[in-house]
Amino acid sequence: RAVHAARAAFESGPWPKMKPADRQRVLFKLGDLVLEHADELARLETLDNGKPIFESRQVDIPMVANCFHYFAGWATKLAGETLPVNPAYFNYPLREPLGVVAAIIPWNFPMIMVGWKAAPALAAGNCVIVKPAELTPLTAIRLGELALAAGVPPGVLNILPGKGSIAGEALVRHPGVDKVSFTGSTEIGRHIMKAGADTMKKLTLELGGKSPNIVFADADLDVAVKGVAAGIFYGKGEVCAAGSRLLVEASIADEFVAKLAERAQKLKPGDPLDPKTRLGALVSEKQMNTVLGYVETGTKEGAKLVAGGKRAPINGKGWFVEPTVLDQVDNAMRVAQEEIFGPVLSVIRFTDVDDAVKQANDSPFGLAAGVWTRDVKKAHAVARRLQAGTVWINMYNFYDAGMPFGGYKASGFGRDLGPECLRDYTQVKSVWVSIE
Ligand code: NAP
Ligand code: MG
Repeated sequence: RAVHAARAAFESGPWPKMKPADRQRVLFKLGDLVLEHADELARLETLDNGKPIFESRQVDIPMVANCFHYFAGWATKLAGETLPVNPAYFNYPLREPLGVVAAIIPWNFPMIMVGWKAAPALAAGNCVIVKPAELTPLTAIRLGELALAAGVPPGVLNILPGKGSIAGEALVRHPGVDKVSFTGSTEIGRHIMKAGADTMKKLTLELGGKSPNIVFADADLDVAVKGVAAGIFYGKGEVCAAGSRLLVEASIADEFVAKLAERAQKLKPGDPLDPKTRLGALVSEKQMNTVLGYVETGTKEGAKLVAGGKRAPINGKGWFVEPTVLDQVDNAMRVAQEEIFGPVLSVIRFTDVDDAVKQANDSPFGLAAGVWTRDVKKAHAVARRLQAGTVWINMYNFYDAGMPFGGYKASGFGRDLGPECLRDYTQVKSVWVSIE
């Protein structure tokens, strides 16, 4: 029924035919409504996901609003240019919407992901079905209501909660869905590629990561310690781009790890609804057990636990895990190669620039990377050599609707955000006109 509603809205509703300036106004209004309902949405997100209300309110809300405000502007700017093929013809490309886009999204950023995927798809004139993760459907449902209030016509943005294996799978196989934009695990990403082949689904896949955060001896070490800690502990480490591998230059490694361990020990999990809390609860008991299992795997493989490593229940309850640092990790170990998706940092030493780049790229993933150095030449040279869709220099975990985000290698293809993602939500028609 969701696909039929979206198809009908696309084929005979007002949305794709609307004046772009009117679509722009509606989407901009939705951005405003997100800000007007910030406290309510932030609370829902925290109740659903366990992330601190501080993060929901100060990061997720502004990012969702940023997406609708930014992509609203693109509705009026999806232009083509005339192409000088032959004086006898008039040639121009028309950039058209794809039709019905299914956005299948994960539980770690349930509200942000609606903004990342629905905002550009809608701006380009598509109709959208969002399938939130079963664990975290609340904010997507509320955003659906706000979209109607902003003037998005019925059927244009559909929110379809349900299990991945049922609702998600049905969307991937449905002939009425033109494109699937997926964020989640590499395993399900691969499955969606195969399952979508019969109906020739267009795909954007934003998958996992094992992103290296590279600290050179010439970095501002105090700034780097803060950045590296935030890079892995922000969002409880349940972040696709989490800086989950610290690559640190051997000459400063002991000093750096000591500072980092001290910082990790000071960061205590707390009640996610308390505005002072900076580390929340993992999303589920299952995720907590996966994460604690990896800590055990790491120590069995020979890593040295220098901070955290245990469950930290509050009043005997909750899926809280201490910020954890595993030192003496070898890049070949499972805790360096596999996505843990929790507040667990694996520390690996390197000897020089070539060694740093080699170990950083020795991963099936290529989502993001961080570089910490005061040497501007080294920073840019290393950025070019890293196989990663995003490189942060002397910063980590920053996002904006205007900057493309996505993966190299097994971290996926296609891009969310930025002007780049609009290519993935449109198709080009080449028009030839005889004028002689
Ligand atoms: P997942 O299974 O990949 O889930 C992502 C989304 O895909 C959810 O909406 C899920 O629905 C849906 N889905 C599941 N099976 C599907 C299918 N056969 N067809 C269509 N859609 C399907 O991720 P997860 O199980 O929640 O997490 C497992 C691991 O994935 C994590 O530990 C982490 O390593 C990684 N992960 C990565 C990201 C990222 O941002 N790259 C985000 C989340 C998780 P339901 O949840 O309702 O089943
Ligand atoms: Mg799953």
